[in-house]
Amino acid sequence: MMRDEKLYKTAKEQLDAYIRDRGMRESSSRNIILGRICQLRQPFTASQLEEYCADAHLSRATFYNALNLFISAQIVKPYDRGYGQTAAEYELNTSVSRSHMQLVCRKCGRTASFYDQVISRMVAEHKYTNFNMQNYTLVVYGECKVCRRMPDKKRK
Ligand SMILES: [Zn+2]
Repeated sequence: MMRDEKLYKTAKEQLDAYIRDRGMRESSSRNIILGRICQLRQPFTASQLEEYCADAHLSRATFYNALNLFISAQIVKPYDRGYGQTAAEYELNTSVSRSHMQLVCRKCGRTASFYDQVISRMVAEHKYTNFNMQNYTLVVYGECKVCRRMPDKKRK
């Protein structure tokens, strides 16, 4: 499964639970917009997202209703860029920070994503000199569980 699909699956489950609890009906345009948010994988303003969904030909009302619903459902959360922020930005609640933290095994190349709220907050709140951070990648190198268990032939 591709990362975007995984994100979408998680976000969609959140959305489904939210609308089911409120007796609302599923909407295909809402699902399209959610899919696009998952593809973006970075903070966005409402108008950037609207532009990114332009080819889906959704009405402005549909678009903004969906975005507001995602915010109420906490699928999308406000993104605080801090200094230099000009318009309200949002990000997928489960995605951005998670998708940018990765463990890589030096021996077999196996990768796994991880998430740490403390690190995520630290990077986001760090004061960068003459630099406006957009997103980041954190790669942690090491040895995976499988490789650790395997007897190393080079060792005596
Ligand atoms: Zn390994």
